[in-house]
Amino acid sequence: MKIACHDLVDRMIEQEYPSLFSLYRTLHQHPELSEMEEQTALTLSTSLETAGYTVTTGIGGFGIAGVLDTGPGRTVLVRADMDALPVLEETGLSYASTETTVDWNGRSVPVMHACGHDLHMTILAGVARVMAALQDWWSGRLVLVGQPSEERVSGAAAMVRDGLYNTVGTPDALLALHVAAEYPVGTVIYTEGVSSAGAESFDLKIFGVGGHAAHPNKAIDPIVIAAETILLLQTVVSREIDPQAFAVLTVSSIHTGSKHNAIPGEVELTLNIRFFSPGVRDHLISAIERITASVARGAGVPEERLPMLTLLDESAPPMICDPALAGVVIPAIRAVVGEEQVIAVPPSSGSEDFGAFGAVDPPIPICYFRVGSVDPNSTHPPAFLHSGKFSPDAEGVIKNGVRAMSIALLALLGEERY
Ligand SMILES: [Zn+2]
Ligand SMILES: [Zn+2]
Repeated sequence: MKIACHDLVDRMIEQEYPSLFSLYRTLHQHPELSEMEEQTALTLSTSLETAGYTVTTGIGGFGIAGVLDTGPGRTVLVRADMDALPVLEETGLSYASTETTVDWNGRSVPVMHACGHDLHMTILAGVARVMAALQDWWSGRLVLVGQPSEERVSGAAAMVRDGLYNTVGTPDALLALHVAAEYPVGTVIYTEGVSSAGAESFDLKIFGVGGHAAHPNKAIDPIVIAAETILLLQTVVSREIDPQAFAVLTVSSIHTGSKHNAIPGEVELTLNIRFFSPGVRDHLISAIERITASVARGAGVPEERLPMLTLLDESAPPMICDPALAGVVIPAIRAVVGEEQVIAVPPSSGSEDFGAFGAVDPPIPICYFRVGSVDPNSTHPPAFLHSGKFSPDAEGVIKNGVRAMSIALLALLGEERY
C-alpha cells in the first residue's frame, strides 16, 4: 500500500497530541508578558532540543532559534510568538491562568495568553517533531523561532538586529501562523500581498505657559492648543490622504493638569498611525508635525517651545505576503485540508511585527496564514482575541496548525513521494 506524506503527518500528530496538549497546558497556565518570557523560552527551547534541534537562546531578549539541517536545499524559518497579555482570564477552564506579575510600569497585573501565542508555541513544537520524524522526506535547513515581545511589536526587529541570521543563516522563506478567533476550526485564512497594516506609535508633548485660571491672558493654555490640534488631526485622513489608500490616525490618550484653578504648562498625548504603504506613512507623520507646530505657533508659543513628537520603538512595517511563496504554500495546504476550508480575505488594519523578519536587504519572502479556532459545536458566540474569555478549541487548533504548517514546509523543502 502506498503511504502519502500527509498521512504520515497525521499519524505523527495523533501520536504526539497528548504530549503537545500537556505542553500547551503548561504554557497556558504560566503566561509571561512581553520582554519577560524567560521561563516560556526555556520551556520551548527544551522542547525543540528534545526533538533534535540545535537551539540558540537569548537572541534579541528571550528569543530562541532551533535548527535542523538535513542536507542541501533551502533554509525556511517558522516563527511562533511567545508573549502573553495583562488580561484577567475569565474562561473558567480547569487550566486557566491565575498568574499575576509586575508590568513595565511597576503595577501588579493579571497575565493571560489571550492572543493564543501558547497555541502557536505548541504548534511549533509539534511541527518540530513531525519534521524531525519525516526528515527522510525533505532536505534543507529548518529554523524554528520563538519570538519575544510580539504584543509590543518589537521582538522580531530585536532578533534580527541581534544577529539572528548570523546564527541560523539567512532564510529563503519565512512562515508564521496565528490563531483566528472568528473562524471555525479546520479553516485556514490568508491574504496575498499587503496582509496587515504597518503601525507606529508616538508621544506628543504640547507646551504652553502655565498660570492661574483667573488670569488666562497671562498664560498660553496648552489644553486649548491640544484640543484644536486633536480636531485638526482628524482632517489628515479625511482631507489629505487619497480616498483609495488606507490610513488611520488615532489620538489614543491625553493627560495634563492637576488643579481646578491652575492652567498647566504642558499636555502629553499618545498617537498611533496605521498604513499599507511607506508613502502614506511619511505623509501622516509630516502632517502631524506640520499641524502640531502651526497650531502652537498660532497660539503664540515661542519657536523653542514648539510641540515635541517622539517615535516609539513599538512599530511594525506593513506585512506583505509574497504571492510566489503563497502560490506554493496555499495550494499544498488546500490539497490536504480541503478546497472550501481555505479562505482568502482582504487585508487587515491590525498589525503584526512578523514582517520585520523579512525587512532586510534583500527582503525575504513571507507567507502568513491563520487557523480557525471556534468549536463548531459551541453554543456561545466566540470571544475576540485579547479578551479574558478567549477560549479556543485547543485540540482543533493544535492539530490543524501542525498539519497546515508541516504540509507547507514539506511543499517548500521536500518532494511529496509515494
Ligand atoms: Zn495579540
Ligand atoms: Zn497574537
